[in-house]
Formats: sequence, structure tokens, C-alpha cells
Amino acid sequence: MSEADCIFCRIVRGEIEAKVVYDEDDVLAFEDINSKAPVHVLIIPRQHVANLEEIGALPDTVVKRLFEAASTVAEKLGVRDGGYAVTINNGRDAGQEVFHLHLHLMGGRRLGMP
Ligand code: 5GP
Ligand code: ZN
Repeated sequence: MSEADCIFCRIVRGEIEAKVVYDEDDVLAFEDINSKAPVHVLIIPRQHVANLEEIGALPDTVVKRLFEAASTVAEKLGVRDGGYAVTINNGRDAGQEVFHLHLHLMGGRRLGMP
């Protein structure tokens, strides 16, 4: 999938609406359209990379910023103290649907490994 067609690149460009909860130079976070928890946010690099196999294309600082954004968003949405899960579905068996690397941040209910 090219960046022109990528759903998350389209959100970055403002072509598709999203409920943005965090917005900075390199990283964007918005509510998942099909929420699986009281808090369910997707955190993405603005730069398109498909998955972890392409993460080398991201500057190290951006990789770090993704995880820092997770903590910031968790605090902002009131789940930092209670705890939250940060998940990457990478590839077919993980059920990855959108091939633009993203962290799922979920909180507000009991979560854990399946
Ligand atoms: P994954 O690729 O990690 O399996 O999941 C992709 C996630 O993106 C899903 O949880 C799905 O609900 C979410 N999603 C797919 N399309 C859109 C969209 O257009 N807007 C938003 N906000 N979320 C989306
Ligand atoms: Zn993309």
C-alpha cells in the first residue's frame, strides 16, 4: 500500500477525520474508530513505515517519541496510574489491518496477555 492510499497517512494529511488526542511534530495520536477498551488510542509516526521490519527508516528520536507519547496520552486520558497496555499487531498472525506502524494504547479495564 502506498502512502497515497494509506488510511493513517490520510489522517496525518487531514483528509480523513479523526479524534486527535495528541499532536506533535513527529507523532500523532487519535482514538481508535472501533474502540476495544474505555480508552483506546492509536499512536503513529507521521512518517509512513509499514511495520517493525521497516522501523529502521525512522529516526531513533521518533521511535522514542512514540513511547513517550504513550505515557503522555495515558496521563492525559486518566489511565496512567491505573495502568495501560501498549500493543503492536505486526503482520498476518497478529491480525495487522493497517500497514502504517502504530501503537495501540488501551486502558480503563483489566488488560493483559491473551
Ligand atoms: P491493527 O492494524 O493493529 O490490527 O488495527 C488497526 C486499527 O485501526 C483497528 O483497531 C481499527 O479499528 C483502526 N482503524 C481502522 N481504520 C480507522 C480509521 O479510519 N480511523 C480510526 N480512528 N481508526 C481506524
Ligand atoms: Zn501511512
